Amino acid sequence: MGENRIHDPAMIADAEHWRTRDLAVLWHPCTQMREHPDTLPLLPVARGDGAWLVGHDGRRYLDAISSWWTNLFGHAEPRIAEAIAKQARTLEQVILAGCSHEPAVELAEKLLALAPRQPGRAPLAKVFYADNGSAGVEVALKMAFHWHLNRGEPRRTKFIALENGYHGETLGALAVGDIPLYRRVYAPLLAEALFAPSPDAYLAQPGQSAAGHAEDAADALARLLDDHVGEVCAVILEPRVQCAGGMRMHDPAYLRRARELCDVHGAFLIADEIAVGFGRTGTMFASEQSGVMPDLLCLSKGLTGGFLPLAAVLATQEIYDGFLDDSRERAFLHSHSYTGNPLACAAALASLRIFETDGVLARNRTTAAKMAALAAPFANHPHVADVRQAGTIVAFELAHDGGKRIPFDAAQRVGLRAYRAALDGGVLLRPLGDVLYWMPPYCIDDSQLELLAQVTRAAIGEATA
Ligand SMILES: *Cc1c(COP(=O)(O)O)cnc(C)c1O
Repeated sequence: MGENRIHDPAMIADAEHWRTRDLAVLWHPCTQMREHPDTLPLLPVARGDGAWLVGHDGRRYLDAISSWWTNLFGHAEPRIAEAIAKQARTLEQVILAGCSHEPAVELAEKLLALAPRQPGRAPLAKVFYADNGSAGVEVALKMAFHWHLNRGEPRRTKFIALENGYHGETLGALAVGDIPLYRRVYAPLLAEALFAPSPDAYLAQPGQSAAGHAEDAADALARLLDDHVGEVCAVILEPRVQCAGGMRMHDPAYLRRARELCDVHGAFLIADEIAVGFGRTGTMFASEQSGVMPDLLCLSKGLTGGFLPLAAVLATQEIYDGFLDDSRERAFLHSHSYTGNPLACAAALASLRIFETDGVLARNRTTAAKMAALAAPFANHPHVADVRQAGTIVAFELAHDGGKRIPFDAAQRVGLRAYRAALDGGVLLRPLGDVLYWMPPYCIDDSQLELLAQVTRAAIGEATA
């Protein structure tokens, strides 16, 4: 390791200067600021170049996590950059209440055409925009509740979410999340949600298949719904991969069962594809792998190719119709100032065009196969308890005893040590606890994949030594 060290004193001084300026004024997200800069090195990033981030000190880092799962085609992708610039010279922003504009309409048309379908169900028919993933989740939750209220079912106030699920950090989204590190402190402020066991295949009994475990979890969801007949307005979940929950993956059978159960109980199914949408798990949307169409589909992160914040909530005609009335109170009076921002919509449209022109999903299948081959040998590592993959997401579960799946003591900060070691090797990994994962931009090439595997192996070695 250490190949990524720079010896030019001027550049090192420049980076140091940045750190000082930054720490004087910035409060970083999801960070114990006390850990900067010593425990957690702060990376001053000067520019992005494809899958690379380039630091002020000239060091290059492979962005193995697509900058929090947002970036799709590499940093500073010229076609998306150009689309934004062009839009900025035409119409940068306009109030979307009472006004309309081309990028918002065209994007809605495109998203609805791409959205998952299911035989026998009327397709998703309307798009409501928000500014970020959490706000999109708030929209879906409020819509689900309000629809039932409008219909004369005020008792349907409960949401069912999954254990180990994640839906964002605002209070409504946090209430349906189940990651203690983010939730516990704010628990007194949160609306009460019901949590069903996770279908997470890592939790399967020894000898049990992922599908078998998913069926058991679905049975538990059925019991929970039976215990709350007429009280649940929606079930919200992350199809296929619980990303923030440690890239835990589950069998597509679960979503099929959840769909059926929601129908039986008159509850909406909200698919949160904020992280897994736009090809990450191999299909455009993860729900497709279950042949399931949700009633509400939340999209964000990769929606704009990773350029600008934007969320879209896709809803059925039935949900939309439930708000049509002479009364304004029965309308969905939710808004954000930048709802449907033209620049963000233009970025999203450029991103969707790249999917078409570059044959992205087909290329990703090749990338996923290469990632599988590079990841396979890790399964034999004594400190790797599990290697799992869905499309171009690969995760490594580090453990004290990989064979027996005995975790490391959290105080050892093994994930953090791996993070630091990987930076020295020129790769930005940002583990979730002791789970290392790869979720690279789709433009990653063979030599970058090899570097990723090599640095990951060395980082695991260093962190677990
Ligand atoms: C990131 C994420 C969110 C929240 O999105 P933000 O834009 O960070 O608010 C919600 N749901 C899932 C599944 C996510 O991964």
